[in-house]
Amino acid sequence: MARRKMVAGNWKMNGARDANAMLLHDIVFDAKRYTAVDMVVCPPALYLESVGAALTGSSVQLGAQNLCEQEKPGAFTGEIHGGMLKDVGCAYVIVGHSERRALYGESDEVVAQKFQTALACGLKPILCLGETLEERESEQTEIVLGRQLAAVLARVGANGFKSAVIAYEPVWAIGTGRTASAEQAQAAHAFIRGELANADAKIADSTRILYGGSVKADNAQALFSCRDVDGGLIGGASLKATEFLAICAAAQ
Ligand code: PEP
Repeated sequence: MARRKMVAGNWKMNGARDANAMLLHDIVFDAKRYTAVDMVVCPPALYLESVGAALTGSSVQLGAQNLCEQEKPGAFTGEIHGGMLKDVGCAYVIVGHSERRALYGESDEVVAQKFQTALACGLKPILCLGETLEERESEQTEIVLGRQLAAVLARVGANGFKSAVIAYEPVWAIGTGRTASAEQAQAAHAFIRGELANADAKIADSTRILYGGSVKADNAQALFSCRDVDGGLIGGASLKATEFLAICAAAQ
């Protein structure tokens, strides 16, 4: 099955009202060229509403970087419910980013709960999976990816992936300037698709698997031309309009 390419920008904890407006001005202006690509921007939660307003009338969609795992809103100080993300116009939400797993102690189980809550709120989860350098060097990559995916599958089943997107993000490539080679990315993506296919071959075939980890304009083409790489989740390079748009052009 031909899967539509997707390029999502994860702004992480970056941005300010003026800088966001300038960045979005350029992205929105150029977005009409990339008709074959689903473009998404994921700003910090505080800016979701203003970024959503700046995207009005464009094909660029809005995503959040995180949500609370709780099914219902209530007494969870500092947290944001998925329903609120939906309410301000989010279509997507990133779950299980390695920074959340490593710095904020999110376990596979919490990530699975977040995924389930996202679905219940009508959001499309972008599920991040990835191994550390130590895990890769000790040949644990497939064990780690399989375990992270299995935790979500155990909670939502293969049907939970009908609207979801997966992002393979090797931890050693995130923000390091060290990108996985096209061969390494393809091997990991094929493994992830195979694991999903064990649960449901049709859903596995239609699920987009993005690559994330130091994607730049000059390496995007090689990565996106791999059979099982359906676009990218972009961190640092999504903060520069020219760079982000060049990555979208590579996906087109
Ligand atoms: C990310 O944080 O999801 C990411 C891929 O970051 P970078 O592109 O900066 O490596």
